[in-house]
Amino acid sequence: MFKNIAKSWRDKLKSGLSKTKALLLTDVKDLINFGSEINDNLWEEFTDILVASDFGVKSAQKVIGDLKQLVKENKIKEKSELLERFKSELKIILDAKDNKINLENGKLNIFLIIGINGVGKTTSIAKLAHNYLQEGKKVILACADTFRAAAGDQLDIWAKRLNIDLVKYSEGADPAAVVFDGIKAAQARSSDLLIIDTAGRLHTKVNLVEELKKINRIIDREAGGAKRETLIVLDANIGQNSFNQAKIFQEAVNVTGAVLTKLDSTAKGGIVFAIVEELGIPIKFIGVGESLDDLKEFDSNEFVEALFE
Ligand code: GDP
Repeated sequence: MFKNIAKSWRDKLKSGLSKTKALLLTDVKDLINFGSEINDNLWEEFTDILVASDFGVKSAQKVIGDLKQLVKENKIKEKSELLERFKSELKIILDAKDNKINLENGKLNIFLIIGINGVGKTTSIAKLAHNYLQEGKKVILACADTFRAAAGDQLDIWAKRLNIDLVKYSEGADPAAVVFDGIKAAQARSSDLLIIDTAGRLHTKVNLVEELKKINRIIDREAGGAKRETLIVLDANIGQNSFNQAKIFQEAVNVTGAVLTKLDSTAKGGIVFAIVEELGIPIKFIGVGESLDDLKEFDSNEFVEALFE
C-alpha cells in the first residue's frame, strides 16, 4: 500500500518535471555528447541552457563556475564526467540551506503562510494540514486574509472536509485580531500546529508589509515560545516571476522556506535553484497536483534524480 503511494508520488514528480527535463537534460546531454570539448564555448552554451530553464543568471554562473573549478583542479578530466558532477553540484545548492521541517513535540508550532493570490496558497494550507493530521498532529487553521471574503470561504470548505477548526472573521476585520484568536484557540485545544493564511495583495505592498509585521508582533507577544515557520507559497509555472515575488516578501519578513506549487505542469523547474541559491530561501515543500496527497516535504536527492531519470 505504502509503496504504491510512494510510487505514484515519484511518477507525478517525474512527469511533472518532464517539461523542465526536456529543456534542461536533453540539451545538457546533447551538449556533452555532441558539443565542443571542454572550453569557453561549451561553458557559454551550458550557461545559456541553464538560464533558459529559469535557473537565473547568478545561479547558472555559480554552477558553471564550480564545474570550471573542478576541471581546473583536475577533478573532472573527461567531458563524460560532467553530467554526474553537474547533478552533484545541483544537490549541493539545494542542500546548502536546511530544507527540513521538524515540528517540536508537545509545543505549539506556527506556520505563517504568505504569498500572492492564485499561487495555490489555500490548497497548500489544506494539503499541509492533511499531511500533519496523517502524522497524528492536532492542527488548527486561522484565516488572516480578511481582505477577500472568498479566502475564508475556501478555507472553510477545506477545514470542514478535514474536520478541523478554523478561526475566521468577516471581511475587513483586523488580521492581527484573527491571529490573536487563532493562537488562543490553538493554546486552549493544545494544538500541535496552527497554520495561518495571510492576505496576498502585492499591489498594496506597504499595507501588506505592515500587516505581516503586526501579525508577527502578535505571535511574538502571545506565542513567543512557539516554533515558527514563515513559508512563502510560489507557483513554479511562473518561473522568474515567482523569484521576484519571493524577493519582495523576503525584504519585508524573514521567510524561512518556500512551498513550490504546480511543479506538475511547468517547464520552469529550474527556478528552484535560483530561489535557493540567490535568495537563500530553502524549498521545504513541493506540490505536484491538486489533490490532498500532492504535497510533500522537499527532498533534494529525489528532485534532482527525477530531473535526470
Ligand atoms: P490561492 O489564491 O493562492 O489561495 O490559490 P488556490 O489554493 O485557490 O489555488 C489556485 C489554483 O491552483 C486552484 O485551482 C488549485 O487547485 C491549483 N493548484 C494549487 N496547487 C497546485 C499544484 O500543485 N498543481 C496544480 N496542477 N494545481 C494546483
